[in-house]
Amino acid sequence: FARSIGEVTDIVEKEMYTFLDRNDESITVRPEGTAGVVRACVEHALLRNQQQQRVWYMGPMCRYERPQKGRFRQFTQLGVEAFNLPGPDIDVELLAMCARLWKMLRVDHLITLQINSIGDLQSRNNYKQDLLVYLNKHVNHLDEDSKRRLHSNPLRILDSKNPDMQTLIANAPILLDYIDDEAKQHFAQLQVELTELGIDFTINPRLVRGLDYYNRTVFEWVTDKLGSQSAVCAGGRYDTLVETLGGPSVPAVGFAMGLERILLLLEAANLEFTNTVDGFLMCIGEEAERARLLAAERIRNLVPNFSLLTSMGSGNFSNLFKKADKSGAKVALIIGADEVANDTVSIKFLRSDRPQQTIALEEIHTILGDI
Ligand code: ATP
Ligand code: MG
Repeated sequence: FARSIGEVTDIVEKEMYTFLDRNDESITVRPEGTAGVVRACVEHALLRNQQQQRVWYMGPMCRYERPQKGRFRQFTQLGVEAFNLPGPDIDVELLAMCARLWKMLRVDHLITLQINSIGDLQSRNNYKQDLLVYLNKHVNHLDEDSKRRLHSNPLRILDSKNPDMQTLIANAPILLDYIDDEAKQHFAQLQVELTELGIDFTINPRLVRGLDYYNRTVFEWVTDKLGSQSAVCAGGRYDTLVETLGGPSVPAVGFAMGLERILLLLEAANLEFTNTVDGFLMCIGEEAERARLLAAERIRNLVPNFSLLTSMGSGNFSNLFKKADKSGAKVALIIGADEVANDTVSIKFLRSDRPQQTIALEEIHTILGDI
């Protein structure tokens, strides 16, 4: 992680959970997913012979942060990485994928896209020299973190979240002015393709991202609904990381989104997602109650995509119907003594006028299959 994310980054310096285990071996709990994905791809030779890969992951990440709304010590990231595609078309595809997700979740009006290009290594080094001259002139206004970074990694200073540093950062030279023609062309084409897809964006020339491995395209999807925890998804290109971690020279691009922040955003927007089932199975009478679990399992085998909630214990008709209605189910599946005797199920449609009908249990998929 130190090698891929960068020794002089917040994540590695301050946030990584590194400790000695009982055997005095150094253990680090993962703070992010990209390094592990690259390691896995290299280890399993997924990038050999110029293979292209589009992969994803989801899981818990840990960072030693000051816990607050939208900032946790354990959180969940969903990430996507694409290898051996130099872009910018793939960069745009990833952004289109995000945009589609925001639409599906109905939060697209609350999230905006910021993009930038941080160019390639040579231009960043040229930039660093001018940035150093500028920062050295204002060294008295730098906070402790930034003073330390001045020598180790001045670019990181631009990523500072300290409000007192913002004016100084705003007046610094702009990295975008230093990037070479090829990177410029890449960035211009990215914008053309985003525009063609109708994906709105703003160029944020101060966007540098907090990890070392990025180059060229960097982006963040941000919201103003979560205070200073404004980024819900972030990513960019990292064309040199695979080689750095011992793999072939393979260009790459990816992003990671914070699922808890997306949930908070849904909450802030009053967008509740209710959990409903497709069917509610009610069994009336002792025989039916005894047959219930077997019947439920047979139904699940016959109609695998049909979600079924089965009532437990005993209950009378009107109580069970109330429960069926509350469950949000589209149909109530009723089994009484007659149904047990004939191996049938009665189906009552709870959300339409379709008349109730009784059908052989073995045929039930013909009706439930397209509900
Ligand atoms: P921030 O600037 O908010 O600290 P970051 O730049 O450290 O974010 P990344 O490392 O790019 O974040 O991780 C990608 C996404 O993971 C972030 O955009 C955010 O949605 C989420 N995330 C990062 N750290 C946390 C955390 N401590 N708690 C919850 N979500 C987080
Ligand atoms: Mg962070």
